[in-house]
Amino acid sequence: MRKVIYPGTFDPVTNGHIDIIKRASELFDEVIVTVAINPGKTPLFTVNERVNMLQESLKDFKNINVDSFDGLVVDHAHEVGAVGIIRGLRAVSDFEYEFQMALMNRKLASDLTTVFLMPHEKYTYLNSSIIRNLASLNSDVSDFVPDVVLKALNKKFSK
Ligand code: ADP
Repeated sequence: MRKVIYPGTFDPVTNGHIDIIKRASELFDEVIVTVAINPGKTPLFTVNERVNMLQESLKDFKNINVDSFDGLVVDHAHEVGAVGIIRGLRAVSDFEYEFQMALMNRKLASDLTTVFLMPHEKYTYLNSSIIRNLASLNSDVSDFVPDVVLKALNKKFSK
């Protein structure tokens, strides 16, 4: 049983994240998408809202589960019995940060392997902060996020 975790802020989940999650679910027996509770950030959506949007977007996939965590990614990976950590790479600009994180996590827990997956190229310029900005300016983001996220964004910005 090969389980992996995919940690992130997911504020909110985008079609780029979903692309990575589906690819991971084809490679591993179980994918746990794990929402980081990061006290240093002030997210648009609460942890519960982010978890619920992920659950709703992924409800048709049997080997994908969603949870949240507070603390070190490697500790949470051990808690759930994961063998690795999934991260998405969009462009060279992601590389340096992700490389640093992966090597630090390996130093902290040598039994865990970070696996990088690349999304379809149509999602390479997508990130949650662009989505939040566009939505706040009443721009149509329906091509970039699941329906449940679109509804939540429209509600947040009372469209
Ligand atoms: P974090 O705040 O940890 O970067 P995110 O939710 O923004 O959390 O992203 C989680 C992971 O998903 C990261 O590895 C990030 O590079 C990746 N990711 C984000 N957006 C995309 C996308 N459009 N395509 C592929 N991977 C993505």
